[in-house]
Amino acid sequence: MPELHEQPVLLETRNLSRVFRGKRSLFRFHVPSVHAVNNVSLRLREHEVLGLVGESGCGKSTLGRTILRLIEPSGGEIFFKGQNILNCNPEEMRQLRQKMQIIFQDVYSSLNPRMTVEEIVRAPLDVFHLGTPAEKKAKVLQILEEVGLGEQHLHRFPHEFSGGQRQRIGFARALIVQPELVICDEPVSALDVSVRAQVLNLMKRLQIEKGLSYLFISHDLSVVKHISNRIAVMYLGNIVELSESEELYQNPLHPYTQALLSAIPIPDPENKRQRILLEGDLPSPYAIPQGCPFHTRCPYAQERCLKEKPELKALSSNSQHSLACFLHA
Ligand code: SF4
Repeated sequence: MPELHEQPVLLETRNLSRVFRGKRSLFRFHVPSVHAVNNVSLRLREHEVLGLVGESGCGKSTLGRTILRLIEPSGGEIFFKGQNILNCNPEEMRQLRQKMQIIFQDVYSSLNPRMTVEEIVRAPLDVFHLGTPAEKKAKVLQILEEVGLGEQHLHRFPHEFSGGQRQRIGFARALIVQPELVICDEPVSALDVSVRAQVLNLMKRLQIEKGLSYLFISHDLSVVKHISNRIAVMYLGNIVELSESEELYQNPLHPYTQALLSAIPIPDPENKRQRILLEGDLPSPYAIPQGCPFHTRCPYAQERCLKEKPELKALSSNSQHSLACFLHA
């Protein structure tokens, strides 16, 4: 198989934006606009896992949903296998959705409590009219086996399962239509720490066996590290650093990435990492700071950072490491 960076590009976003427009409320207060996703340009190759990390409320999930057009973008372009999906009509988009699936964080509300496991997992086959009833049943059994469940679970309801098992049902439902891209939106955040590793290992195994590409969204850099080939760091709707996974952990350059990484505990009492504490909370998305969006919390902010916004740029012409910060301009 060719090297990952030689694989064809599966998904590309160009200057993708999503603004939730402000309005006047019932009592005539003005509700300002929210720039949830701001000119995001990313590429995801076939067989690649791209981690997307940032604090809660930074726009990660909105970006994932916008890529699938579950939320319509306000600007920019989205290409899937070279096709601009914003030009697709509803029927073309319906067909494409078979190849682009999503796994949700909330394993308790993402499964219909009135449907059996068989009905839940079979539902995408029904939607896309894939196979006869006998073929559908065989596929359901096969995919359940692949995610570590079995025939004995077919007629049970979601409330009879643990969080980890429910997430396995969610995977089975997403993977049964043989997608090429899976948006994984905080897939292990709601799970107990004890089952997280099992579910992550399962996801990695399925990704390799089926040749899938994941956009893996998480607020936890330690989770993303184990599964991602590259990682994009997001802050207030902007990608501020993008690099190969190992490089990001060894050589984080953006002050925000450095602060996120410093919060990961090292399981070695001899080797303590200096914790970087950020001042203040994440600014309100209703009032994103002018200039560099991180300047209100950045210990290195200069005069220029208050007025100009740094662009995301590669460190050199052949570098895989990109950064939006004046410190390394
Ligand atoms: Fe900090 Fe300035 Fe870099 Fe922004 S551009 S991260 S404020 S040093």
